Amino acid sequence: MTISFIIECVDCSENYRIRYGMGNNFPQSASFQCTECSKKIKIGFKSKGEDRIIEGCRFIENGGFEKDVKVVNLHPEIPTDKDRLNDPSLFQTMGLFQQLNNSNADIFKFKELQYIWSQFYSEWIKIEPLLRIVAKKNKDELKRLKNIDFDVFSDEFHQWLGIFIRGKKDNIFEKINTEFLSIDSSEIKNYLNNEDKLIKQIYALCNVYMRHSENFQSTIFHQKYGWELTSDMTANVHWEDIESVYGDLYEIVGDLLTIPTMINNIKQGRDFDQFNTPGFTLDKFLKTDKAGRGTNFQSNPNLKQLTEFYFPWLRNGTHHKNSTFNSDTHEIILGVGKGGGTEKKINLIEYVRACNELFEVGIILSSLILHLKK
Ligand SMILES: [Zn+2]
Repeated sequence: MTISFIIECVDCSENYRIRYGMGNNFPQSASFQCTECSKKIKIGFKSKGEDRIIEGCRFIENGGFEKDVKVVNLHPEIPTDKDRLNDPSLFQTMGLFQQLNNSNADIFKFKELQYIWSQFYSEWIKIEPLLRIVAKKNKDELKRLKNIDFDVFSDEFHQWLGIFIRGKKDNIFEKINTEFLSIDSSEIKNYLNNEDKLIKQIYALCNVYMRHSENFQSTIFHQKYGWELTSDMTANVHWEDIESVYGDLYEIVGDLLTIPTMINNIKQGRDFDQFNTPGFTLDKFLKTDKAGRGTNFQSNPNLKQLTEFYFPWLRNGTHHKNSTFNSDTHEIILGVGKGGGTEKKINLIEYVRACNELFEVGIILSSLILHLKK
């Protein structure tokens, strides 16, 4: 369903006719920049019904239709064609159905997947306090305050992960799980049960992403179905709202990659904390630069996929505030390399995808860690 209404930019009074494609998930929002004054304008719904999000603009009741008002197409959950952002005849869901048709996807399965995906945020609201108590306090406090055993919580977290990875053709969870089961190391379990840093990292990971999750919806089904995301697509999100997300996820995932590293050490016939280089131990590994955290297991076909979207250049380019967004081309221009002197471009839609992929690795490793801490 596409709803249409007129708004006015609060800073420069420019009028726009918004054609907003309703999504399935709540909260939902879509943003664009005022073409005149660059003000961020955000439209959306906190919940089903009339609980609207409106920022940077105001509604014009019954106005504007008679005038030649600029059209802006917005959809919170589907990529928009860059060339048709202002096309009054665009219906984005038609593109989605075309996509389903081209890939011979079952429409009923798609609807089911869509319904299950719509629970991801509401399930997080249930899990967040439990994870917070475990991360900031401990398992005993979880039992005392919520009367929930850690094992039960761990299973609930795993079900939540299941919503995220459901429908994805390439299942990296199965692969890492297979690797762990092949060694089933009690040393790794002991190590995890005697440290409490990683569970704090898990809480931070989920918060970083879930605080901004409405901005990362547009590529979810493309990723689940393996549909190509092309450079002529963009996401209706505001760059400054999400520019630090990738770097924050990267830092945390860099720590969580300790687990596949330990698994790989054992697979290669060493103790979990002993590396290929004699004298190089886990303590030393944990002090290394995050860029090399996936190096250890690159020869393991079941593990190497964990770093497919772990990009030091994207982390460096965005984390040092060395990035700008070009609102005409929808590209992010990053300063990369030594001192940030080399320019590299990435499309906004690719950035959104990279955040989703990196978060996926993060919750997969989180769920495994919580399972091993049982
Ligand atoms: Zn304006």
